[in-house]
Amino acid sequence: GQPLVFDMSYELQMTQRETENTISQLLESEGSNRRSLEPFHLHFCNLNPEGAYHKELLKRYSTETWENLMITASPQRPIDMFPREQLVYLTADSPNVLRTFDHNKVYVIGALVDRSNMPGVSLANAKRLKLATARLPLDEHLRWECGAKNLTLDQMFRILWTVKQTGSWVEALKFVPQRKHSGYPAKKGTNDYKGAEGRPTVP
Ligand code: SAM
Repeated sequence: GQPLVFDMSYELQMTQRETENTISQLLESEGSNRRSLEPFHLHFCNLNPEGAYHKELLKRYSTETWENLMITASPQRPIDMFPREQLVYLTADSPNVLRTFDHNKVYVIGALVDRSNMPGVSLANAKRLKLATARLPLDEHLRWECGAKNLTLDQMFRILWTVKQTGSWVEALKFVPQRKHSGYPAKKGTNDYKGAEGRPTVP
């Protein structure tokens, strides 16, 4: 399967509570992946074997289960495992929009939960590693009520899996929670704009 990388390098910036949330979201992603047709090959890169993330993973899974999961866990960086040109770091703060899902790229998701006092953390990290970056085409497909465009790790996983399978952002972005946006824009040329009811416009 196509690789999908979770960058586990953020554990020192997480509180215990945030570490638990991060791992819960990763377990949910791993579960969906395992049950799906054509799963991604999941990679947990930058996983410190002595660190809080690894400790929390072992707490949730027995050692045996953890070792049998379809996850490649490694302390190596994404750039040690894949050619730099193949990597695209996903971050809501990127100036670039991911318009089409590319089956030959390796997308990287930052394994952290959002904190309002930490905007731009994953963008800064991607820049330091000199990696291409992209944000999901949320503005292009949804109408936003308010600021926060950062999605959780399990939402990110479901969106990427769906767009990989269907090629459709409309399908994939159904995993963005409705409370984050106020509806889907009407298709160009149609006049059936439904206002702020949060309902998709039916053709
Ligand atoms: N403030 C954090 C940051 O610096 O990115 C937000 C982290 S977000 C909760 C966790 C990860 O999900 C991000 O590192 C990014 O990989 C991915 N992500 C979340 N929303 C995204 C979006 N709209 N576009 C692209 N990636 C997104």
